[in-house]
Amino acid sequence: MAKKYTILHFKDGCIGCGSCAAVCEKYWEIQDDGIAHLTGSVLQKKTKENVYVLELDDPGCNADAQDICPAQVIKIRATKKEKKKGVIKKKKAA
Ligand code: SF4
Repeated sequence: MAKKYTILHFKDGCIGCGSCAAVCEKYWEIQDDGIAHLTGSVLQKKTKENVYVLELDDPGCNADAQDICPAQVIKIRATKKEKKKGVIKKKKAA
């Protein structure tokens, strides 16, 4: 059965600031190359960019990582059903 959320990391735009790992160490870590990695994610093959994806039933602290990422390279996509419920956190206005 499909998961409810897809976490995407547009890795090419990551500046390696570490904010995601600071608020969501369960899923995010800075690797030796100085760029963040979403634990358990896989490289999406359909795009030219390096986009890593992870499907979850509960986005958990990834919502905080999405909000805090200064480069806005973390996105959470919900299924239509979950979007209707309005459970996904909206990005705060700057
Ligand atoms: S917060 Fe965003 S820019 Fe900073 S390391 Fe994480 S993914 Fe990269």
